Amino acid sequence: MSYLVFARKWRPQGFEEVLAQDHITVTLRNAIESGRIGHAYLFAGPRGVGKTTTARILAKALNCEKGPTPDPCRVCSSCMRITAGSDLDVLEIDGASNRGIDEIRDLREKARYSSAGGGWKIYIIDEVHMLTREAFNALLKILEEPPPRVLFVFATTEPRKVPATIVSRCQRFDFRRIPAAQMAEYLAREAAGEGIEAEPEALAMVTRASGGSLRDALSIMDQLVSFTGGRITREGAASLLRVVQDGILEGIVGAALAGNPGGALDRVSEAFALGYSVEELNESLVEFLRNLLLAASGGEAGLSDLSEAEAGVFRNLASATCDTAVLDMLRIVASAAAEARQSSQPRILLESAIVAASRLSWAVSLESLPRVTPAAPAEPRAVRPDAPPRPAAAPARRERVEAAPVSPGAESRRSDGIRQSPAEPGYSAGPGDPSAGGDAPGDGHVPAGGGETPGDSEITQSLLDLFDAVSRDRTTDRRSR
Ligand SMILES: [Zn+2]
Repeated sequence: MSYLVFARKWRPQGFEEVLAQDHITVTLRNAIESGRIGHAYLFAGPRGVGKTTTARILAKALNCEKGPTPDPCRVCSSCMRITAGSDLDVLEIDGASNRGIDEIRDLREKARYSSAGGGWKIYIIDEVHMLTREAFNALLKILEEPPPRVLFVFATTEPRKVPATIVSRCQRFDFRRIPAAQMAEYLAREAAGEGIEAEPEALAMVTRASGGSLRDALSIMDQLVSFTGGRITREGAASLLRVVQDGILEGIVGAALAGNPGGALDRVSEAFALGYSVEELNESLVEFLRNLLLAASGGEAGLSDLSEAEAGVFRNLASATCDTAVLDMLRIVASAAAEARQSSQPRILLESAIVAASRLSWAVSLESLPRVTPAAPAEPRAVRPDAPPRPAAAPARRERVEAAPVSPGAESRRSDGIRQSPAEPGYSAGPGDPSAGGDAPGDGHVPAGGGETPGDSEITQSLLDLFDAVSRDRTTDRRSR
């Protein structure tokens, strides 16, 4: 297959083809139509989002043989030369390698002569923030007294490093990152135009890896086409981009959230066996947990750069857990990942983080207490010799909890500090409470006979004891640290 690299082949030739920068291209078109062309433009924005491309289209629009026109013909000799980068009146200068005063003085001399073709002379200075202070001063002199029909387009990824004296003499345009949905749609369309089959999941991965830079996305597409032989698949993209496949991550996170450290560690070993490095696994895990957190907390907008199938995975996992559990796991894994970068034993850090995260699951099961079946053994409470005496309020709390088996986890926490009287709203008495006299409460909070199953209340009580014991253990741990 012979082809131009996508980044060149798919380079927009007209304003209407520039992706996701309508706020700029519309203004430029209007300026050309009304003949109000400035002397200097500052194009600011992240790399690979169309700054120099737009500058070239602007040059074509001004110097087209049928122009100035907002729609350059693309076929006249001027348009062709600008597209090929061989036009003597359109000079592209790399600010990073021509940053000294001599280059700018030279430019100033040349700018005095009118253009060869009788049109505009256009200087496109890329990465202009790299110029030295002296070079900026020389540039400022030109901008203070601009020669007629000379246009400067300064492109920069770091506008804050451009001196204010320069910025104030430019019309500034801020280019934005290409939104994921728009980029994925664009890639799908262009690939289809080339007869390249591309799976939506693979394009979503490319979009994510590009970080909103179209140039990066196109160069990944190039690599993928050579790598997969013309068919862009999810596996191919995952393998080239070294993204750990979601199936593995789902296995690790799912097992950890279910309180199964062994299962989670097995999946980790599997990932290593597939050749992923600790760093790749850490990064992918953090990204996965971040998406899961969004799904669990209802922040759906953040999932918009995922394909529908991928988002479905997160919604599904999220429905079985709560955002607090995911947040705790994310914190543990992210801090282990940060530590792993400095460590000679990064794998151990990752594995311990997975085990620690799996141990968090008891907190989740406490919240979902009503689902605990009586088959769970009620462990006798181990009284530690150094344990402080139980607070006097404890027995009252237990009665309360027995009385409200519907959400004992929430009840027990609330009643830890606040003792409610039967008259207060929200108090729900059950058969175990003598003051209630066996009457069913008005709010229907307690199901009939809810507190009468001895198994339920025993389990609730022993879980509360366990909760106390663990809290005490943690406090002791913290003190001894
Ligand atoms: Zn033309």
